[in-house]
Amino acid sequence: MSDDNDHESPAEVEAHPSQPMMIPVPFGGRGPHRFGPFAYREPRRCSFCGRRARSVGHLVRSRTAVICDACIRQISELLGRTDTHQREVRFKPVVPVPANRTEAERDIEAAYERVFDSDAGPEDRAAAIEDGDNLVASIVEAGRRTPGRRGVEVFVDYIRFIADDEAEVRFTLALGTPGAVGPMQLDETGFAVLTDNGWKVARATWCGLVTRVGIECPPPGSAPPTP
Ligand SMILES: [Zn+2]
Repeated sequence: MSDDNDHESPAEVEAHPSQPMMIPVPFGGRGPHRFGPFAYREPRRCSFCGRRARSVGHLVRSRTAVICDACIRQISELLGRTDTHQREVRFKPVVPVPANRTEAERDIEAAYERVFDSDAGPEDRAAAIEDGDNLVASIVEAGRRTPGRRGVEVFVDYIRFIADDEAEVRFTLALGTPGAVGPMQLDETGFAVLTDNGWKVARATWCGLVTRVGIECPPPGSAPPTP
């Protein structure tokens, strides 16, 4: 149940198998990160609702676009009741949201705060990341490479559920930089996923962030790197 496996998921349907494969710009993401032997990619997502393969029945992709079966059904119904003279049609996907939405939002915010909490132990921080068991070393190393070593503060600005088990998260990272007048602020978009152990920061989000400071996450589920 890892992000990387989504690419090989049997739920995906290749609409034009004769076309060369292309990695679309991920929904809400910042483009694929591809450094080092363990090329890191955001999971492919429906261009309309943002859900990835594990949250839908099928993801249908062509060379330039991705759509899920649920959006196809909803668009089909929408077109059925649209005037034939109306050339452009606006579509707003309806997605399932968690029943206990407030509680889910609180858990997501807590997971984000835990991951960036420099007072917490690296094991506890890794436990707040989806499949985070082998990410302890990346957390320790990210702490070493943070400007000023004063840690990073995270502010969750906005949570948007794109499935009952996944949310898009807008957040701000404030980095204490020595000599700077104020902290450097980075506006980021990431994801949270509901696992068997509650809501976690998406592994894709953490690994995407640390590649920027030259840290490579090990493949999901592999043994932790030896120091
Ligand atoms: Zn969709």
